[in-house]
Amino acid sequence: MQDLISMRSISWQDAGGILRDSAKMEQLLKNPKKCAHILENRVIANMFFEASTRTSLSFQAAAMRLGAKTLVFSSKSSSAAKGESFSDTIRMADGYSDAIVLRHPCEGAAQLASEIARHPVINAGDGANQHPTQTLIDLYTIRKLKGKIAGVKVALFGDLLHARTMHSLLFGLLMFKAEVTAISPKELSMPSALIREAERKFCVKIPCMARPELKNTDILYVCRVQKERFSDPKKAEVAARAFRVDAQLLKSAKKDMAILHPLPKVAEITAEVDLDPRAKYFEQAKNGVPVRMAILSRCILGKGKPIRQKSAPRSFACKNPSCILQAESANQRGVIGADNIVRCRYCEKPA
Ligand code: ASP
Ligand code: ASP
Repeated sequence: MQDLISMRSISWQDAGGILRDSAKMEQLLKNPKKCAHILENRVIANMFFEASTRTSLSFQAAAMRLGAKTLVFSSKSSSAAKGESFSDTIRMADGYSDAIVLRHPCEGAAQLASEIARHPVINAGDGANQHPTQTLIDLYTIRKLKGKIAGVKVALFGDLLHARTMHSLLFGLLMFKAEVTAISPKELSMPSALIREAERKFCVKIPCMARPELKNTDILYVCRVQKERFSDPKKAEVAARAFRVDAQLLKSAKKDMAILHPLPKVAEITAEVDLDPRAKYFEQAKNGVPVRMAILSRCILGKGKPIRQKSAPRSFACKNPSCILQAESANQRGVIGADNIVRCRYCEKPA
């Protein structure tokens, strides 16, 4: 494996390999000297064009634990603010480092960067599209808590329309045969094209509901309303009031249900829930370091096979206003998904 761009394109073998390597990294971290040579003398460029706390810090911590050095870029204090193109910034970072960790507000930015850079590119969140490293942390956490992923009943709850964590996780969970339910207020429901694609790809039916029904749920996975992706902030506030996890809601849930959240949490989980032993989100965040160590070493040391994108049809014009191609020119091509639908090679949206 070289690049990690999307849960659509990672193979089951690579994803499983990362989960296994993560467990090994967690063991090694008990005696940090044992992992300090794995990426010795490597330089990793952390390129953050959008705000981040956990992803940026945990990637830095992971790189340092492996003996690598990091370059930290933030678009606000760089030439990107002077109007430098994304492609030029990536070319430059590629020349300075052995791998690029990229977060960007545009969908498809990571795929485009991987075509420009000679070194591995790891997607640390591209707009509302994907956040595959978060998904691998989530899968690792579920497996640690429940001993398995297959058959585990997972309820995705929150802003399923905009949250890239949810879009990635849907594919990750189905890849490992979890049973997924989507719960959200109607105006924040999972995009229907995504549901259709996942159902066809994995031959399952995903129940979608507006009210939480937690009686049989093993994992409640919550996310905040992604207000930065709303054009009207008032709508985001209204949406945020429409769902909340509180002690009352948890009364109907199993005693061993686990509550996960990619963080940051805002108002969707009340403070009393933090004290409930079922709240496992800080444990989940801590898993970010060994999982990102596994991802960095696998991408940089090149274990596993590179995935070939399926051949591209002749022409494709992406109409997604959030696609990176609206800002950068690249050779536009479409790819055919497992559901036989053509989608943009970059932002992964159907025409
Ligand atoms: N967006 C979250 C944060 O800022 C987590 C992340 O970076 O992925 O912490
Ligand atoms: N940290 C996650 C992300 O960067 C979730 C969030 O920001 O709500 O997507």
